Amino acid sequence: MGIAVSEDGPQTEQRTQPRVFSGARPTGRQHIGNYLGAIQNYVALQESAECYYCIVDYHALTTLEQTEAIARNTRDMVLDWVAAGIDPSRSVIFAQSDVPEITELHMLLSMIVPLAWLMRAPAYREEAEEHPEHANYGLLGYPVLMASDILLYKATTVPVGEDQLPHLELTREIARRFNNRFGATFPVPEARLTTTPRVMGIDGVRKMSKSLDNHIELADTPEDLRMRVLSMVTDPQRRYRTDPGRPEVCNVYSLHTHYSTEEEQAAVYTRCTNALQGCVECKEWLAANLNTALAPFRERRADYAAHSARVDEILGDGASRARRIAGETVREVRARMGLRPTKR
Ligand code: SF4
Repeated sequence: MGIAVSEDGPQTEQRTQPRVFSGARPTGRQHIGNYLGAIQNYVALQESAECYYCIVDYHALTTLEQTEAIARNTRDMVLDWVAAGIDPSRSVIFAQSDVPEITELHMLLSMIVPLAWLMRAPAYREEAEEHPEHANYGLLGYPVLMASDILLYKATTVPVGEDQLPHLELTREIARRFNNRFGATFPVPEARLTTTPRVMGIDGVRKMSKSLDNHIELADTPEDLRMRVLSMVTDPQRRYRTDPGRPEVCNVYSLHTHYSTEEEQAAVYTRCTNALQGCVECKEWLAANLNTALAPFRERRADYAAHSARVDEILGDGASRARRIAGETVREVRARMGLRPTKR
C-alpha cells in the first residue's frame, strides 16, 4: 500500500475513506443504551468510512466471569448488529479471537510499552486494590491488547465517548513510540467524538447496563418491553397524579425524546408539567412508540435467527477480510522489528 509519512506516522494516501475500528465486548443481546450510544453511530459511519466492527472476546476473558456465555453472546450481538442495520457486505463484522494475528501484534507491541504506563491504568489499579485475585497479567496488558486491536487494522478513526479518550491516548502513544523506534508504520488514530447520549437505566439513576439489570433489550417481546417501561422510575418528586411533574429529570421523558415525534414530546411536556396526565399513561405511550420503532428490527432479527448459519457466515467472512489487513500489518511489523519473514 502506498503510504505518505508525516510526523504522526504514515497516513493512508490511497484510501479514499477513513478506516474506522470499534470493538465491543460480547455482552449478548443489546439494549437501548447500546443502540443509542453506539450501534446507531456504527450504522451511520458505514456511509462515509471503511468500518471494522469487532466483538472483542479476548477482552471478556480478563475477568474470567461467565466465560461459558462468550460464544452465545457473540452470536446474539451479531444478530442484533445486523438487524439494527450494520451491513455485513459493507462493514467487516468479526470476532477478535478469529484473527490470530492479534495475539502476535499484542506480544510484539508489549515489547515497547513501559510497565509504568500499564500500572497506572485506572482499570488495573482499581482491580489490584479491590480484587487483587483478579489483577492478572492479562488485565495488566489489556491496554496493549486494545491498542493492538486498533493498530492491527491501521485504523485512522476510532469512535469514542469523551470518557474513553484516555484509553485512545495510550494507543496513540504506543503508535508514536513504535513509529519513532522502528520507522513510520502506524497511522496515529484520531478520536471521533460521538455525541453519545447517556442513556439511564429503568432505575433512573444509573447508566443502562445488563449487569445492573436496569436495561430494555432491543429484542424483547412487545409485552416484555412494555413491562420494563412500566417499571421505569420517573420524577421522584411526583407522588400523586395531581402533582405537576418535571420531564427534565424524568428518564421516561428522555426516552420520549428519542422515540416520539416532536409533537408528541411537546404534548408530554405540557401535560406532565400541568398535571394533565399520569405517569402510567405516559409510559404506555412510550412503550407503544418503542414497540413501533423496534418492529422492523425484530422482524429482521427473527429472519437472521431462523437461518443460524448466516451468523457463522458473517463472522467467517468478516474474519477473512480482517485477516487480510492483519496479516499485512504483522508482516510489516515483524520486518520493522528485525524478525525474519515467515510464511503465513
Ligand atoms: Fe415522567 Fe411522563 Fe410522569 Fe412526567 S408524566 S414524570 S414525563 S413519566
